[in-house]
Amino acid sequence: LETRLPGVGDNIFSAMSALAAQHQAINLGQGFPDFACDAALADAVTQAMRAGHNQYAPMPGVPALRQAIAAQLQALYGHAYSAESEITITAGATQAIFTAILCCTQPGDEVIVLEPCYDSYLPGIRLAGAAAVRVPLAPGSFRPDFDRLAAAITPRTRALVINTPHNPTGTVWSAADMQRLQEILAPTRIALISDEVYAHMVYAPLRHESAARLPGLASRAFVIGSFGKTFHVTGWKVGYVAAPAALTAELRRLHQFNVFCVNTPMQHGIAAYMQNPAPWQQLPAFYAAKRDRFRAGLAQTRFRLLPCEGAYFQCADISELHVPERDLPEATFCEWLTREIGVAAIPLSAFYADGLDQKLIRFCFAKKDETLQAALQRLARL
Ligand code: PMP
Ligand code: GLN
Repeated sequence: LETRLPGVGDNIFSAMSALAAQHQAINLGQGFPDFACDAALADAVTQAMRAGHNQYAPMPGVPALRQAIAAQLQALYGHAYSAESEITITAGATQAIFTAILCCTQPGDEVIVLEPCYDSYLPGIRLAGAAAVRVPLAPGSFRPDFDRLAAAITPRTRALVINTPHNPTGTVWSAADMQRLQEILAPTRIALISDEVYAHMVYAPLRHESAARLPGLASRAFVIGSFGKTFHVTGWKVGYVAAPAALTAELRRLHQFNVFCVNTPMQHGIAAYMQNPAPWQQLPAFYAAKRDRFRAGLAQTRFRLLPCEGAYFQCADISELHVPERDLPEATFCEWLTREIGVAAIPLSAFYADGLDQKLIRFCFAKKDETLQAALQRLARL
């Protein structure tokens, strides 16, 4: 077969998890919790199965779940999405992003991404036959560089992908950032694909600035969420897209032939579980405590810490470690760290099309305290 993705191998998350398993390393690489989800959520799904919700869901998603999402978005961001015509349940955020990209583009169009970026954006753009225009986030701070972003817009630009809180760097866009973005996009017809899967993991004193908060962004945005992140169930692959009716109509036109619909009992279970806001309201404090413990431990080592304002990733600079391996390319360093030290991490170079090497690696701290403690003990040797 002639591949549609020349030069693309196994994605970094699969590769590092496989290596971690092979060497029985502590896996702080791929982003997923190593603890159980709330028993009440598992019970709600079980009940949905027992109640017979086991056949195809409606194509856009179970109405109760779409209503629960609309109510949550209204309460948090003050934007009233129609559950009927503006919310679509997807097979995780991955399918949401892929379908949104396909929706916005024709072959030859351009899509702007801000690097480093999540690994599914560039292949999605490529498979759509579009061209990715890569704009770097500001070196060092990884904050948006709006002058460079504005300069990258051409008559062929059809969409811009943003991600706040950010994977891998944990930066969180401010209200002023979103305002500036709104101003830049105002004279254009560019669609905004706003990857907000870590919306509920923003650490005090910051708050999540959703594209849904600003009318000039909401009117052009596919706002994307994922229950895998919010409810500690990454394996369920249930997410959503909130978008104006005209964008949603096109999204669903594609979605119906991409997956048609998403698994039914999970949707019912999540809808019931969402009636209680406590689980996602408690998430920032829950993860901030893990972040703080993990950072305090790493601060005792020679890893240099980058800030972490949101999401469940902590990035660290390896250039001051006392081992010769610190001079390896960071991807090779991560393999060595997994094999020899027994801790898996993700090189930031995996989030750049050209594999830019900055001696930065990413740890996921969505782990039991004892897992983090054991990893810190091993990392302290470096
Ligand atoms: N976007 C970002 C920034 C992510 O980190 C992830 C999960 N790794 C996804 C999208 C995909 O989410 P899901 O697992 O719901 O497909
Ligand atoms: N989003 C997760 C991460 O960044 C992993 C997703 C995946 O394995 N594809 O680690």
